Amino acid sequence: MVAPGLRLGAERLFEMPAVLERLSRSNSTSQAFAEVLRLPKQQLRKLLYPLQEVERFLAPDRRQDLHLRIFDPSPEDIARADKVFTATEGNRIDYVSSAVRIDHAPDLFRPEVCFIGRSNVGKSSLIKALFSLAPEVEVRVSKKPGHTKKMNFFKVGKHFTVVDMPGYGYRAPEDFVDMVETYLKERRNLKRTFLLVDSVVGIQKTDNIAIEMCEEFALPYVIVLTKDKSSKGHLLKQVLQIQKFVNTKTQGCFPQLFPVSAVTFSGIHLLRCFIASVTGNLD
Ligand code: GDP
Repeated sequence: MVAPGLRLGAERLFEMPAVLERLSRSNSTSQAFAEVLRLPKQQLRKLLYPLQEVERFLAPDRRQDLHLRIFDPSPEDIARADKVFTATEGNRIDYVSSAVRIDHAPDLFRPEVCFIGRSNVGKSSLIKALFSLAPEVEVRVSKKPGHTKKMNFFKVGKHFTVVDMPGYGYRAPEDFVDMVETYLKERRNLKRTFLLVDSVVGIQKTDNIAIEMCEEFALPYVIVLTKDKSSKGHLLKQVLQIQKFVNTKTQGCFPQLFPVSAVTFSGIHLLRCFIASVTGNLD
């Protein structure tokens, strides 16, 4: 990532329409992202920085100890990450294989990130949204819960691998715990685990099993809030509740939540940027 002192912060960029305009014309910006940059400022902010929307509704005294945005890249960094997620001749983004056992998983050459969550949390929809710049990648989104029974591996160019883990809870495969536990414990190239929580219902009992696994194995993990319904009140309530849980009850969880919507795409670009960053692709 660009050294913080050398780059324009997100806030300053927003105050400088000319810079945004130049960025949208730059060769280093994909066409899709250039169009995003032309959105009205309010809409652009909500799309790229969903937590900023929420922060504005916090009482000033609560802001002191609540550092909601720790990962706060500039739109330039977000544009660079979008490039990493854009399929081209030289940057092939493909489904690689599926596995039920770790010894059937593909090689360890690239850094890896994995996505886990309850069935129906919106995992396939999120992965599909992350890969929207690679339309050839087939991510199956099921109408029925419990669809993903294997670990599905996708490679993003030479950059990293994304793993879609089986959903837990309702209709989870019987060997779920063995499969997921072994993977989380033994996968040496695993850089970050993204644990999905449904923003409509918050953290459920079954989510605690996954949280406990991550804590026990001392894995760095991140909570992603899916199905961000855009209702500021609802999102604010969930963010505050889960943020408190993260701050007081966890050790390895990244202290920033990532609200996303696979419908409006809010938070998707930021999450791409975070993935690119933790896999060493923004250095
Ligand atoms: P999975 O079982 O975790 O892979 O969940 P899916 O991606 O199949 O999504 C489960 C259900 O939630 C489907 O009906 C989706 O259409 C819905 N869903 C997923 N993401 C979103 C979202 O961001 N917003 C809304 N409103 N619905 C979503």
